[in-house]
Amino acid sequence: MSATLIYGERDAILIDAPHLEEQSRQVAEWVLASGKNLVAMYATHGHGDHWFGFSEVAKHFPDARMIATEGTVALAEFTAGQRMAFWNSQFPGQIVKDIVLPEVIDDYTFLLEGEEVRFVEAGDSDGPDTTFVHVPSIGLVVAGDIVYNGVHPYLAGGERARPLPERRADWIAAIDKIAAVHPRAASPAWRRALRHHPWRRVLVLAEFQRVALAGQPWWLSPPLKRYGARSHQSRSARATYRPNVR
Ligand SMILES: [Zn+2]
Repeated sequence: MSATLIYGERDAILIDAPHLEEQSRQVAEWVLASGKNLVAMYATHGHGDHWFGFSEVAKHFPDARMIATEGTVALAEFTAGQRMAFWNSQFPGQIVKDIVLPEVIDDYTFLLEGEEVRFVEAGDSDGPDTTFVHVPSIGLVVAGDIVYNGVHPYLAGGERARPLPERRADWIAAIDKIAAVHPRAASPAWRRALRHHPWRRVLVLAEFQRVALAGQPWWLSPPLKRYGARSHQSRSARATYRPNVR
């Protein structure tokens, strides 16, 4: 799981923090090492592996607000309540202990030193009421769990009981919402390498995810042809890839 720090000259906002105590400590140290003043932490959705760690980071930044949408906080309450036994069974003794629920935002635009950080509702994807973060001034999208890189889409959650074809269609619609803001780069939450990706590459990955979710063979997908699936498949293209956002 990746955490993303968006920063200006002095201030920063952290997007997502992991669920394990040790990993969260490492994220806190990473934020400290940036030298930035953390003013807020935003959870893209309510799954515990995206916000349990906020309280660990807050030990160093007690004034940083922990924020999320209403839907995220509702799922977060469920996750920290009825689902806590599940998390503890998967990671015994490793989960952050003193978790704190984020507060519900009343404004979907956060101003970081005057630049807009937008929280965008994307509907259901790997869980109910997921969101992504869009920073128009640098063309960045922090995709949360809507876009993965090299990891199977997680359809096992089922917090909102609905037929699988509907959940797949919702996830595809969420990917379309990200594409609609025309990002220059995007940061998937689950991925093989810790780096940001040019959107063109993420779009190819997202398209693989989309066709996998739709149950189609990828070679029948027109967008994959349009955005360069061939270069994604080529080893040399992978080797020469360079991130364009730090
Ligand atoms: Zn998730």
